[in-house]
Amino acid sequence: MLTKKEKIYEGKAKILYTTHDPATLIQYFKDDATAFNAKKKGTITNKGVLNNQMSSFIFQFLEKNGVKTHFKEKLSDREMAVRALKIFPVEVVIRNRVAGSLAKRLGLEEGRKLQQPILEFFYKSDPLDDPMMSETAPVALGWMTQKEVDHVKEQVWKINQLMTKFFDDRGIDLIDYKLEFGKDAQSNIFLADEISPDGCRLWEKGTGEKLDKDRFRRDLGKIEEAYEKVCKLICEGRP
Ligand code: ADP
Ligand code: UDP
Repeated sequence: MLTKKEKIYEGKAKILYTTHDPATLIQYFKDDATAFNAKKKGTITNKGVLNNQMSSFIFQFLEKNGVKTHFKEKLSDREMAVRALKIFPVEVVIRNRVAGSLAKRLGLEEGRKLQQPILEFFYKSDPLDDPMMSETAPVALGWMTQKEVDHVKEQVWKINQLMTKFFDDRGIDLIDYKLEFGKDAQSNIFLADEISPDGCRLWEKGTGEKLDKDRFRRDLGKIEEAYEKVCKLICEGRP
């Protein structure tokens, strides 16, 4: 049985542990919630359990559809076995509609439809508040090769097609979301981290009700209910 050996990292929402297998880590999902780069802190009861369940389901869905992810196995309510990766210091944001920082930056109304998805790269850096950067920056700075950037972008478009349909089938509009990628010891690239309402904007079709972390960021209340609703729709929806 896979068990936790040593805590190697504690982040804002998850803890990473080594295991007896150097190629495998355990991701532990906490209930802690942060926003605005941890300037706002709180707890969302049961979030860790729900995010582990939703992420596990979505990673398996993506794997079935030919996307390589770090997911190995759901071990318990809050634990997931994942491939040990070196994460690129890049957050990839995919936008299917205008919202959040894009609305602010360009002075646009939230909810506006786009002619095609927008892809944005951010530098994963807490001290710098994750600044946006050019997609040519990771190669220029020696963080990724051009081949790696091209591969990640190719995967991102594929993931977006799968994910928009996945959520659409469940009565949810996938507005925008953040993805992280990393590579293993053999330099194979995998989708990593989590896919949950913490890192996705999810609006209920028809009502436009926000079912994601914006309920926490913007003090909209009923946060737990929203996460539970999404979890039900994801896991009890179509396979
Ligand atoms: P943060 O670091 O932003 O506070 P989390 O609390 O979610 O975020 O911490 C999880 C950390 O684990 C993130 O920094 C993420 O990049 C990293 N991570 C995710 N998947 C893997 C993986 N498969 N291997 C190594 N690190 C990973
Ligand atoms: N996002 C994230 N982590 C970050 C930044 C953004 O998960 O550090 C997600 C966020 O939940 C949203 C999308 O990426 O679904 C786009 O976020 P945006 O740039 O609009 O920033 P925000 O206004 O949410 O801070």
